[in-house]
Formats: sequence, structure tokens, C-alpha cells
Amino acid sequence: MTIEEIYKIYLTHPMVITDSRKIELGCLFFALKGEKFNGNKFAANAIQKGAAFAVIDEEEYEIPGKTVLVKNVLTALQDLAHYHREQLGIPIIGITGSNGKTTTKELIAAVLEKKYNIVFTQGNFNNHIGVPLTLLQMNSDTEIGVVEMGANHPYEIGELCSIADPDYGIITNIGRAHLEGFGSFETIKETKAELYKHVCGKKGVVFYNRDNSVLEELINGYSNKISYGETNADFVGEPVFSPPYIHAKVNFPKGVLYLNTRLTGRYNFENILAAACIGNYFKVDPLEIQEAVGNYRPQNNRSQLVEKNGLKIIMDAYNANPTSMQASIDSFVSMFAPPRVLILGDMLELGEKSPEEHLQILEQTKKHPFEAVFLVGPLFNKAAQNYSYLTFPDSGELCRYLIQNPIKAGAVLVKGSRGIQLEKVLEAV
Ligand code: ATP
Ligand code: MG
Repeated sequence: MTIEEIYKIYLTHPMVITDSRKIELGCLFFALKGEKFNGNKFAANAIQKGAAFAVIDEEEYEIPGKTVLVKNVLTALQDLAHYHREQLGIPIIGITGSNGKTTTKELIAAVLEKKYNIVFTQGNFNNHIGVPLTLLQMNSDTEIGVVEMGANHPYEIGELCSIADPDYGIITNIGRAHLEGFGSFETIKETKAELYKHVCGKKGVVFYNRDNSVLEELINGYSNKISYGETNADFVGEPVFSPPYIHAKVNFPKGVLYLNTRLTGRYNFENILAAACIGNYFKVDPLEIQEAVGNYRPQNNRSQLVEKNGLKIIMDAYNANPTSMQASIDSFVSMFAPPRVLILGDMLELGEKSPEEHLQILEQTKKHPFEAVFLVGPLFNKAAQNYSYLTFPDSGELCRYLIQNPIKAGAVLVKGSRGIQLEKVLEAV
């Protein structure tokens, strides 16, 4: 079947589902394959549960009148999403970067929602499946699409761009994340830069952080760009600290406005400014931008402040890499006076650079006085051999220790890769 033919089916059945456990009446089921499963095997079940059609790529699972046989289900999903996106012809904003994609995306979405009917990436569905699914949620009522694009391998952003075809682009920053998949920092840069190349290639507009020298370097040579930053940018704002929160004082064309937030972390300033800059570009009223940013609350332990038993805890256990951990520690130190406690979990997916990166974080901890530093996971355990910090093989062990030796007062930063499950700490303190 051609994409045009599949598109006709999609238009009458626009609800696309890839998980056979979540079938809804009249949906279009795409039988994707994973490492451990073959969606084709669930096609019959999906139809039985009410799916209108199942898109499959193995002939033996065909059900006459109910299945659509394609060469490759994943490619069909991506091609369909791309075709749909081109038919809609609406502006799409692509967001990538090493850190802060989801937060920035959500802030941008909150701001644009004040004026437009938008569809944006749900949660963290930012990969070769999530991006097409996001596009397929858009319809003729959608005015702007906001699409998060993640990458842990070379060329991935270029591939996602060829699906989503963004007209606007923003790279939040470029740091040392997913080094294992990329191999080097240079490759990370090249991969993210594919967004600039794509957007500028179609004469769209790129938004970039003027205070970030790596982005400055990458943007060089492209002309359709709008900068945001603390000075010397097209859109200027400055951070305002009000511990534990970070706010922004922003120069809108019609005057200065304070954007007060419930976000912690100095690094969130650039995320806020990016959202305000884009909102301003799309002519959202500054007061509406102020309200949108002020009402935004971070989810899933992304730099959330939790107060418990007299402790001020920054839960930042959603993910970690050397750049974001460094930013987190710096920000924590600038926000809270002693006594301060650090609970750090391993940074995963760093490949051969891993020992060095963990050591560098430990060196960074020596620059400030901490009441205690607790390290969780085999990578930190190994790196900390010459340090007098308490180490734990996993979060369970740390929790047992904390129950018997409670942290009495002060501020606590909890930061680590999701695999280390530091969110458990909240139950133990
Ligand atoms: P993922 O790769 O999982 O999609 P992401 O890029 O979407 O991550 P977020 O989920 O927005 O990033 O934020 C995750 C964590 O990254 C935050 O909790 C915070 O510690 C850190 N972070 C957020 N914004 C920035 C930033 N601008 N610079 C550095 N670190 C940041
Ligand atoms: Mg994300």
C-alpha cells in the first residue's frame, strides 16, 4: 500500500497506537518490532480489542480487510507522520540539546498555548517513534507543533528533522551526555547541529543562547537567527535569584517584566529565557508569558524542591550527565547556605570517559564545604577510593543507612542517572 493510501485510512482513523495493551476503539495499530517483541504477533489481538486496522510487515499475520501490509512498520509510521506534517503545513518548532529539552519544551508549550492551539511532545517521547507519534497527534485545528528531539547516536537529529521538517529550531545546549553512543564531544556537536542545518536550509529561524560559546560557534555562518542571553542578544534577560527559586528579569520590546517561577536551578534561567524569547517571537502577550511561566511546575524529579522533616531537598534524580551534574552542584551551592549535603548517583552511558568524568565531579565537590557527600553506584564507588566520602553500592543501601543516620537539617541535593533510582531517598529521609 502506498503512503497516500495509508494516509486516507489514517484520516478516518487518526488515533495511532503502538502498544497493543492500550488499544482503543477505532484506532490504527502500528505493529512495531522491538528487541524483545514482534508487534505483528499482537495484530489479531489488537483488532479483536477494537482497532480499526493493524499495520503489519509480516505476511503471515495478515487478516483480510483488517491489516495493512507494508515493507517495514517503523518506516511506514515515520513516512506517514512526515506526509501528514507536510499536508498540515503548520509551523513546527524542533528542540534538541544535551540538557533541558523537556523543561524548555514544556515552558515553550505553556507560553504558546496562551495564544495558539498547539500539540507538543508528551513526556519524553523524543525518539524515532515518539517524534512521528507526536506529529500524528496534530490535526487541522493545530496551529503550531512543538517537538522534542533526543539523540544518543550520530545522525539521529538529521533523521528526526527529515521526519518532522521543523521550520524553527532551538538547541538548548551541548554537553557531555550519551558519550558512549556518540564517541566524542565533536560528534555530539555535529549531530545537534543537524537541526540548525535543516532549519536554516529551509529558511526557517533558529533561536540560540548567545551566552553559550559552543552554540555561538555552531550558528556562525547561518543568517536566520534570533539570539537570547544576558547581554548583547536580540532578546535580553537576566537571572534573579530568590532562593530556592530562579526568576528572570526580561526586556520585552514594550518594557521590563519579571518572570517569577517555581523552578530551582540556575540553569533553568536559560530555559525560561528561551521560552520567553520564542513566545515573544510568536507575539504572545508578555503578561500571558509571565502567567504561563509562573504556573509551570516541573515533573518527574526534574529539579523539584521537596520540603520534608525540616530539610530542603532538591530532587534532581531524573537524569544526570557530567554537564548537568556540574550545573546542578554549582546551582545548589549558590542557592543554599551550609549545612549542605550532596547525594550523588552514578552518571551512566559515558563509555570509556566514565572514570575520568566521575573523578572530575569529585574534584568539583572539594571546592565547597559540604556537611556530607554520599555516593551511590559502582562508578562513583570506584572513583572515590582516595576520598573520604561514604559510598553505597545502590540506593537501597543508602536508604537503609539514612533511616538509621538521618540527615538532621539543611539542604540536600539528590542528583544521579535514573538507573540509580535515587528517588527512593525521599522515603528514607
Ligand atoms: P532527556 O535527555 O532525558 O530527554 P532533557 O534534555 O529533556 O533530558 P530535562 O528533562 O528538561 O532534560 O531536564 C533533566 C535535568 O537536566 C534537569 O533535572 C536538570 O538537572 C538538568 N538541566 C535542565 N536544564 C538544563 C540546562 N539548561 N543546563 C544544564 N542542565 C540542565
Ligand atoms: Mg527530555
